[in-house]
Formats: sequence, C-alpha cells, structure tokens
Amino acid sequence: MTTSITDTLHRPLRDLRISVTDRCNFRCVYCMPKEVFGRDFQFLPPGMLLTFEEITRLARIFVALGVEKVRITGGEPLVRRDVEKLIAMLSALDGLHDLTLTTNGSLLARKAAALKDAGLRRVTVSLDSLDDAVFKAMNDVDFPVARVLEGIEAASAVGLDPIKINVVVKRGVNDHCLVDMARYFHGKGHILRFIEYMDVGATNGWRLDDVVPAAEIIQKISAELPLEAVDPNYSGEVARRYRYTDGGGEIGVIASVTQPFCGACTRARLSSEGKLYTCLFASHGHDLRALLREDKSDEEIAAVLGTVWNNRRDRYSELRTKNTKPQHVEMSYIGG
Ligand code: SAM
Ligand code: SF4
Ligand code: SF4
Repeated sequence: MTTSITDTLHRPLRDLRISVTDRCNFRCVYCMPKEVFGRDFQFLPPGMLLTFEEITRLARIFVALGVEKVRITGGEPLVRRDVEKLIAMLSALDGLHDLTLTTNGSLLARKAAALKDAGLRRVTVSLDSLDDAVFKAMNDVDFPVARVLEGIEAASAVGLDPIKINVVVKRGVNDHCLVDMARYFHGKGHILRFIEYMDVGATNGWRLDDVVPAAEIIQKISAELPLEAVDPNYSGEVARRYRYTDGGGEIGVIASVTQPFCGACTRARLSSEGKLYTCLFASHGHDLRALLREDKSDEEIAAVLGTVWNNRRDRYSELRTKNTKPQHVEMSYIGG
C-alpha cells in the first residue's frame, strides 16, 4: 500500500535519485576536477557500496512511501558492473511509474540495447559542446564528441526516447557553443536542457560570475531560432520548457541558481554507500546501509525514512547568497 509523506514545507516525497557508484571515467572540470580526483583519490571500496538487492529493497520501501520516479546516476552509472541487472530488478517494482538514467554517454553505444531490454524507459545524456576541443577540455580526459553522439543514436535506435541532453553552461568555457547545439538537435526529437552551473561540492571553484543565467541562454537561442514558453508537464517540473515556433521541438533550462525551485522539490537522493540526502547541497546524510545490515525490518526502515522526510526543511538554493559557502557533498558522490 502506498502512503504519502510530506516535509515541514508540505512537499511530498515523489522522486528518488540513486547513485550506483562514485567513480567516473570523465573528469569534468565542474564536477570532478583532476587536481582533486587524481590518481591518489580514495573512492569507496566495493564492500561499502549497496548491493543491487539492497538498492532494490530500499527502492521498494521508498515506492511504498510515495516515490513514483527513480533516476539512476553516479559518478558514471554505466561503469558499475552489470548495472542492467539492477535496472531489471527495479523495473519489476510495482508502483514505480518512471525509471530513467543519467549518463555521460561514453559507454552508451555498447549498453543501450541491454538497458532497454532490462526495462529502462528513457535516458538523459550529458554533453556540454559539439566542438571537440571545448568538449575535451570540459571532460578533461580527451573524450571525443563523436562517441557520445554514437551513444545518443544507439539509445534512440532502441527506443529510449525522447532523449534529454544535459548541457552545463559555464561562462567563457562553452557559452559560445549553445546556438550550435540548438541548431544541431533542432528537429531531431531530443530535448536539450541547459543547466546553470551550480556550486555543488567544495572542489570546483564555483563563482557566481561563471554562471550564465537561464534568461540569457534563452535569449541567445531565441535570437537565432525563435522560442516560446510552454506550460510545465506537471507541477514541480524542474526544467522550464520552451518550444521552437517553427515546430522544431522543445528545449528546457534548469535555472537552479537564478530561479530556484526548492518550493516544489520532491526529491530524495541515495548515495552509492547508502546515505540518504534530502538536498543536493546537504552536508549530512542518513546512513541507511547500517539499517539494512543490522537486519531492520521494512517497517522499521520505512519509519526512519518517514521521520527524516517529515523533518526536512532544506531550501538551499532559495537561501543561497554570494557569500554562502557551506561544506557540501560532491556532485560525483551524490549524483546530481
Ligand atoms: N556521470 C553522469 C553524467 O555526467 O551524466 C551522471 C552523474 S552527473 C553528476 C549528473 C549531472 O550533473 C550531469 O548532467 C552533469 O552535467 C551535472 N553536473 C555535474 N556538476 C555540475 C555542476 N557543478 N553544476 C551543474 N550541473 C552539474
Ligand atoms: Fe563524471 Fe558526470 Fe561528473 Fe562528468 S558530470 S565527472 S561525467 S559524474
Ligand atoms: Fe531541492 Fe535542495 Fe535543490 Fe532546493 S537546493 S531544489 S531543496 S535539492
């Protein structure tokens, strides 16, 4: 039976993001800068990661508390061995309406069919530029654009549509590439989503000056390919939607810095080692792995989740100021 729980700001629990690894084969400058995530960086040892059975058990409990949508993320989720087995286990859960995954696309050409067969519905691919030099400078491991585009095509060919393509926009780095990206994907049926560069974690050297406001992004694109605003698909949708007036499809912007949406935030996040975070900018997570490994019952775990959610008061982005810089967990750890 599904119940519905709410937090101190009356926000229900509807979405769960599950990180399946803190490792990644990219070193995106805004997420895992090489200077920090170098050879000596200590990633979580395998025994500390939740097993697929543990993840599925928690997901089942979350669904009973009202979660309708699960997104698999990381680090890079496709570097977790046999991740498609987890997808198959989650897709069999009663009451879960949407199961999706965010990936850097590097391994997608190889994995798309297995993911689809396992029950994945859709996929989001991150791609910050179509210009090889810019993209390589951003992923910082010399990974070429063409191989991500192959991944997108493979995902589309097996029906993981519509594909969302996430573009993190950093001033002076890729903001000159946005119109090219819009032109390239115009009319192809995929949905580009431009994301304001966020101050997640403590390692990316974020400055407000590096953020390109969503309004500026829309204005730049609309000057070349006219856009009009579209109503949200559902209340609380994070991306603001726009469509090309010539019928070439739609794009979105995620304005987490300039137009925060905490009031409608219904997301919980589970790290790969089983910590529950109630905000992307949280500094503290609740250890669910300990509960699982102490043989607590589903009811006992549900009671803990209920208390954590009932006490939730997070609204970091709404309170963010130029001078706020608390310690918070890294994006590659919590999964975006
Ligand atoms: N590795 C996968 C990927 O890149 O798609 C999944 C994990 S990644 C942390 C999830 C999303 O967070 C990606 O779309 C990435 O571009 C975005 N992201 C990472 N760091 C960010 C930042 N500082 N600001 C905004 N978005 C960020
Ligand atoms: Fe890896 Fe994704 Fe972070 Fe890039 S954004 S370093 S691909 S986890
Ligand atoms: Fe949700 Fe926290 Fe982001 Fe606000 S800052 S939208 S509460 S994750």
